[in-house]
Amino acid sequence: MSAEGRPARVGIGFDSHPLVDGLPLRLGGVTIPFPRGLSGHSDGDVLLHALIDAMLGASELGDIGTLFPDTDVRWKGIDSRVLLQEAHARVKDAGFEVAFVDAVVIARAPRLSAHREAIVASIRDALYLPHLPVSVKGKSGQGIVAFDDERAVACLVTATLVQRARP
Ligand code: MG
Repeated sequence: MSAEGRPARVGIGFDSHPLVDGLPLRLGGVTIPFPRGLSGHSDGDVLLHALIDAMLGASELGDIGTLFPDTDVRWKGIDSRVLLQEAHARVKDAGFEVAFVDAVVIARAPRLSAHREAIVASIRDALYLPHLPVSVKGKSGQGIVAFDDERAVACLVTATLVQRARP
């Protein structure tokens, strides 16, 4: 239950993308200066993709691949904030609101700490929830070759949703 006594649900999301030369690096809706970026059908933003799946999971609305299939040219190269906003609209239509977001970004490089505040602000902006509590933590993924070699970034996110208060 939430503090107001409304039922709460926690959804989980995971995503990973390869880091490749010649692409901008987008993470949490923020462009981060780095020699390589995340490749994917959209802008490859693993954090927002994992967040979308966490929100969809908690509201039983399927997953990001069903909502935004990579066979659809509309989503090619798209800013993942647009996908997040579309998913958020569906979550709200289903009667839920986002109450808390907790994220773990797994990457040896770049280091997350310099970009944490910008990412938190970006997520709040994209959801139009300026006071949403958002936690973003970094792990280096040591012992896993793709991370040790700086060839991938992965992300785990939980989204806590509460049923919207009735007017
Ligand atoms: Mg993805």
